[in-house]
Amino acid sequence: MTLVKISDDALARAGGADRLAAAFEAKGCEVHRVSSWGMHWLEPLVEIDGQGFGPATLADVEAILAGTSDKAIGTITEHPFIAGQVRYTFARAGKTRPLSMEDYAATGGWAGLTRARQIGSEAIVAEVTASGLRGRGGAGFPTGIKWDTVRKAPGDRKYIVCNADEGDSGTFADRALMEGDPFALIEGMAIAANAVGAQQGYIYLRSEYPDAIRKLNAALDLCADIIAPFKCEVRVGAGAYVCGEETSLLNSLEGKRGEVRAKPPLPALEGFLGSPTVVNNVLSLAAVPHILTEGGSSAYQNIGFGRSRGTMPIQLAGNIRHGGLYEIGFGVTLGQLVNDIGGGTASGRPVKAVQVGGPLGAYLHPDQFDIVFDYETYTAADALIGHGGITVFDDTADMGAMARFAMEFCAAESCGKCTPCRIGAVRGVEIIDRIRAGGRQRDGVEVLPQIHNAPKDAGREAAQEIGLLTDLCETMKFGSLCALGGFTPYPVMSALKNWPEDFTGRSSLPEVTE
Ligand code: SF4
Repeated sequence: MTLVKISDDALARAGGADRLAAAFEAKGCEVHRVSSWGMHWLEPLVEIDGQGFGPATLADVEAILAGTSDKAIGTITEHPFIAGQVRYTFARAGKTRPLSMEDYAATGGWAGLTRARQIGSEAIVAEVTASGLRGRGGAGFPTGIKWDTVRKAPGDRKYIVCNADEGDSGTFADRALMEGDPFALIEGMAIAANAVGAQQGYIYLRSEYPDAIRKLNAALDLCADIIAPFKCEVRVGAGAYVCGEETSLLNSLEGKRGEVRAKPPLPALEGFLGSPTVVNNVLSLAAVPHILTEGGSSAYQNIGFGRSRGTMPIQLAGNIRHGGLYEIGFGVTLGQLVNDIGGGTASGRPVKAVQVGGPLGAYLHPDQFDIVFDYETYTAADALIGHGGITVFDDTADMGAMARFAMEFCAAESCGKCTPCRIGAVRGVEIIDRIRAGGRQRDGVEVLPQIHNAPKDAGREAAQEIGLLTDLCETMKFGSLCALGGFTPYPVMSALKNWPEDFTGRSSLPEVTE
C-alpha cells in the first residue's frame, strides 16, 4: 500500500489538505497526517517515498500516483529551502504525526526530560544558561537567568506559564510548533517545572488558534502520566494584542482585565497569583528538550552570532515568493533571508521595505540588507528582531499609510494604563493625517497646501508637524509602561526616515494593475 504524507497544519488544511487526504484514501493509499515542512508556498504538499509534490490539488492525485505529475519538486530533504536550514526547534517538522506518542518517542522525545530528572534543578538551569538561550518571544532575555531567579525565589507554589499569544503580523512559528509538535512544548514546560520546582503550568493562547488548542489538549491528555506530577492546562484568551505582554497575560490568566502591571515586582518573584512564575514563549520552551539532551547545550551554544546563540525560526511572510518557516542560526543577513531564501517579492516587483519584528518593528530599506540577524545588531540599527517575523513589501506599498497603521494599531490595542500610549497614539494618527493631507488644520480649516509645492512659510509648518511627530514618538518610546506604546515609534520613525516622500505627497507610487 502506498504511504502518502500530507500536513494537517491549519495552513495546509486551508489550502485543501483534508480533501486531498480523502482523495488519496479513496484510491487505496495509507495517509499519514504529519506536521508541515514549512514550505508554505507549496502547501498542500504531498510526500511519497521522500518525494514532494506541491501545491497539490484534487486534479493532481492521479498524476502523482502515476509518477507523471508536473508538481514534483524532487526529494524534499534536498530542496534548497530545507537543505540550508539548521533545525533544532523544528527538527520534527514534516516528519512526524503531531499526536503520535510513538513518533515522538522514536525521534528523541522525552530524552531531555529524562536527563533533566537525573541531573536535578541546579544542573538543569546551568545547562540552559550555558546554551545561551534567550527568550524568543521578542525581549531576548537570558532564559537561564530567569529560571534561576524563580528557582531561588521563596515560595511553596511556583508556576510555568507559556506565552503562546502569538499576535505579531506575519508570525506563525508558535502556531506551527503547537500544531506540529505539541509534545515538544509540553516537554519543555515539564523540564522548566523540574528546574524551578513548579507543580502547575498554563499555556495561554488566543481563540483564533482552534487547531492548536485542540491538539494541545489532546497531547496533554496523552502524556499526563509522563509529565506527572507536573500538571498543565490550556487557557484561551480573547485575542488582545497586549495580552502577549507578560504581566498583562498574567492578569488575563487570573481572570482580570488584560492590563499591564508595573514592574517591579518581576513575575519571576511575584507572577501568577503572586507566586514566582516562569513566563516563556513557545519557541523558548520548545528549544529546551534538545538543549537538555547529552551535549545539547554546547551544540546549541556553538551556533549563532555574537550574544545571540542557537537558532531562530524565522517566518517569511507578506509579498514574498517563498513564504514559510525557516530555522537557521543567528547571523544570516536580511538580504539572504529576503532574496536568496525568500526568492524576492511574490509580485516580481522590487522590494521596497521589510518589516522585521511584527507590527511594531522597524521598516528596513533594501540599503540595510547586509544587517545580520542578531539582537544587538538590530538594536543598534533602531530595529527589533521580535518574534522573528519578516514581512516584505514591494514598491507599490505606501509607507506613510503603513506608519499611520502602526499608530492606529497602537491606539486600538492600548490597554489604556499610561498616557503616552493611550493618548499619544491617537494624536499620532492625527498628525500623520495632517502631514499626508499636505496641510495643518486649524479650527477645521486647512491652512497648509500640498507640502511639496508649498510656499516657504507653509514648508515650515510641515517641518513643525514632522518635529511634533518626532517629539511624540520620543515621548512614547521613553514614557510608555510597556512595549506596545514603547515600540510603536519604530515603524513610524523608520518609515518617515526612509520614505519621507510617502508622507509629504511627493512620492509617485506605481500604478497597480491586476
Ligand atoms: S504602553 Fe500602552 S499597552 Fe502598555 S501599559 Fe501603557 S497604555 Fe497599556
